Amino acid sequence: MNYEGQICRAPMERASFMLPVMVGCSYNGCKFCNLFRHLKYRILPLEQVENELKRVKNCNGNPKRIFLGDGNAFDLPTEHLVSILQMIRSYFPDYEMVNMDATVTGILKKTDEELKTLYDLGVRHLYLGIESGLNDVLEFMNKDHNLPEAYRAIERLQAAGLIYDAHVMTGVAGKGRGMENAEALAAFLRKTHPAHVVNFSMFLHKEVPLYREVEKGRFVQADELECMKEERRLVELLAGSETSILYDGFHDFIEFRVKGIIPKDSGKMLRKLDEAIVKYEAEEPVYSLVYGECPNLQRCDNGADVWEM
Ligand code: SF4
Repeated sequence: MNYEGQICRAPMERASFMLPVMVGCSYNGCKFCNLFRHLKYRILPLEQVENELKRVKNCNGNPKRIFLGDGNAFDLPTEHLVSILQMIRSYFPDYEMVNMDATVTGILKKTDEELKTLYDLGVRHLYLGIESGLNDVLEFMNKDHNLPEAYRAIERLQAAGLIYDAHVMTGVAGKGRGMENAEALAAFLRKTHPAHVVNFSMFLHKEVPLYREVEKGRFVQADELECMKEERRLVELLAGSETSILYDGFHDFIEFRVKGIIPKDSGKMLRKLDEAIVKYEAEEPVYSLVYGECPNLQRCDNGADVWEM
């Protein structure tokens, strides 16, 4: 199958069979996100999904863990998701779980019965873009949720037996607010008990609306040192969690990663962060910023300029 767009999934899903069921993201509105901005969102026909299942079956594939792509597959209409899950079951009856990205609003749109039906058909891990523990930051970044909605969605998905994993982003609150965000985010995560936390520290691209906010002086980017200090505080506060968390933090621009099970590995993780902090304190500030002109600044879904949201 020809894959459209960028393959993006949590590192815990790297060995899963990636089954595309949609192209792009049905929301496509977060100010910092460049993943699917250039793609016209559409649901892939069931026939195309089935052809991919057949292809893998014909290659003697027998995946146990399947990841549905792209951006927010859980947002698909429930009956469509059910059809996909039933097809997966008919081709690979031994599959263990089906995981995917989700949005808070996508979960809130589903009834408790629908959540339970999806659980019964093998849906397990839902990766939610929580990003920040601060409501004003979520609003500024045009996330499709606020914190009360996130609490509600997580409570409902956990009640249905589904597993919640959080995507977060150090640096999302901007320069000078790293500690505040770390403390608010840790409080949120400690109350909601994610199984996995993935920190994709902010990586600013020129072709996203957030860059326009930078140009207008409404958002000041934190440097990597501040992002690492924010992450250090987050890991430190999460060490008091009642449940263990598999944590994976990426600072792709400087090729730094901190990973482990909190609280078991917290000491080791904090030491690694401390070493990196000492190193970057001695250097000029580094900003995770992609320079250069994007060749296409038109949105594919409505032809509007990417800055206009
Ligand atoms: S919901 Fe996720 S994929 Fe969609 S725009 Fe927001 S960050 Fe990007």
